[in-house]
Amino acid sequence: MSTVNNQFDVVVVGSGPAGVHAAYPLIKAGLRVAMIDGGLDSKKQEEKLQEFPDAKLTKSGHYYDFVKESSYVFNKTYELLPIKSNIDIIQSLARGGLSEVWHGICDFFSENELVAIGLPSGEIKREYKEISKLIKLNFRTPLDLHGRLLLEKAKGNTHRKNSMYQVPLVFPYRTNSFIEELRRLKNFVYLPNQLVYSVKEKRNHVEIQSFSIDKKDESTARTSFLILAAGSINTTRIILRSFKLYNYKTSFLTKANYFVPCLHLRSLGKKNDSKKGKYGQLVISSKESNRGVDSFFIQLYRLNPLFLHKGLPYISIPKIIALPLLSVLAPYVVIADIKFPAFESKMTFCKLKKETGEKDTLEISFKETNKDILRHKREYNKIRQQLWSLGLFPLRTIFGYITSHYAGGVFSKQTQKKTQKMLSVDKNGKLYKANKIYIADSSSWKILPAKPPTLTIMANAARVGKNVLKRINKNKDLQK
Ligand SMILES: Cc1cc2nc3c(=O)[nH]c(=O)nc-3n(C[C@H](O)[C@H](O)[C@H](O)COP(=O)(O)OP(=O)(O)OC[C@H]3O[C@@H](n4cnc5c(N)ncnc54)[C@H](O)[C@@H]3O)c2cc1C
Repeated sequence: MSTVNNQFDVVVVGSGPAGVHAAYPLIKAGLRVAMIDGGLDSKKQEEKLQEFPDAKLTKSGHYYDFVKESSYVFNKTYELLPIKSNIDIIQSLARGGLSEVWHGICDFFSENELVAIGLPSGEIKREYKEISKLIKLNFRTPLDLHGRLLLEKAKGNTHRKNSMYQVPLVFPYRTNSFIEELRRLKNFVYLPNQLVYSVKEKRNHVEIQSFSIDKKDESTARTSFLILAAGSINTTRIILRSFKLYNYKTSFLTKANYFVPCLHLRSLGKKNDSKKGKYGQLVISSKESNRGVDSFFIQLYRLNPLFLHKGLPYISIPKIIALPLLSVLAPYVVIADIKFPAFESKMTFCKLKKETGEKDTLEISFKETNKDILRHKREYNKIRQQLWSLGLFPLRTIFGYITSHYAGGVFSKQTQKKTQKMLSVDKNGKLYKANKIYIADSSSWKILPAKPPTLTIMANAARVGKNVLKRINKNKDLQK
């Protein structure tokens, strides 16, 4: 069945942090805005559990951890958003996207980091201020015993090279609840249960082809402007398919990660605060730079006892002894979660591979260059010294990558080669090959800094939304 929906001023695809914050300035200005989204609902999570066939305990343990609590966030992605990859990457078709399970840790990118990503730093800094107020960013969440002891020790370490500080948190914030507020407004319509397949720009409008997740009915929506905010992987997938760019290698960015459980010597024998409540988090940011951006970012947090099973595969003593041992040590363990920035590289890429019929699969390949591996090892040796100086004794180092912080796919226009022009955006976030299609998520980023990305995803999305608003207002003025 094929239907033609009403025309909108702007359609936004995706309801994660990028989609919601791109839509907000347009809705506030009174435009007719529709949000087309996978939109799986948390309220239905229980009955959906059995519909998660591919969930398994992988080597990294990632899927397993999330299945129990938030199956709906990842549900159907394995079937509807197929990926073939040498690493596990998580995606979402939930209302609110991955922000439904995020931890809410925020940080501001430096001027150099914004420039390296390809974003206008002045505009983003203005948006940082507005977004921080809107989402009620909390700069003073109390620290737990570990945090207080570490901060005290760091103050005494006057010779320290890297800076330790408390990172702002936004808790509890879910874009899902923000959508509920926006739905009360008459000029906004939320269209869940849709999987956007492709988009086509016509002379006076953009056509969006989607099918319903339940019934597979096809729909076509028409809009004056389109903003893609389906998360970098899925925005890239929609664009590659829409322009029939099969087998075309484009960028994919995710961060190398060293996960280091450490025994916090100064906390031994001391009683930590209760498990309930949300505590502030300390981080260490590198003062050295790698290609213009901070060399690493370390989050320091207490071990979540619920994830003890995750450590078992890494301990070479029988499980029956390892688990009680871990349980005794757990209150005194601090995780040093070290992330490194990601840069474009020929060895890490994605491409859309055509299967039979209309089916296609996104192939993602992640491999660090030898140079990067050596650099990270060198940096880690220095980090270990700093951990020691804080009274943190590394028990184990687990090498990996981040499954949920990713970017790339669509290039930023400034430094791209001719062949990449099809897949690039201008400084306003407009797709170069189109006139009415904009990108609001991290797919246009040239690099991925080590810090958490979502505050900047929101700030950039708000900026892109406002750029579309300016275009619409300008068109209206011309028509007068
Ligand atoms: C466990 C966890 C913890 C995290 N903690 C932090 C943190 O502390 N700090 C931080 O900065 N970041 C954190 N993140 C990362 C953060 O959640 C993401 O950076 C952020 O959600 C990305 O926002 P987005 O809007 O670009 O994409 P997403 O949140 O992935 O949203 C994508 C949206 O697009 C929709 N969609 C996708 N494809 C289609 C399609 N074809 N048709 C229709 N709709 C589609 C989906 O329904 C979804 O609503 C965490 C992530 C996880 C999983």
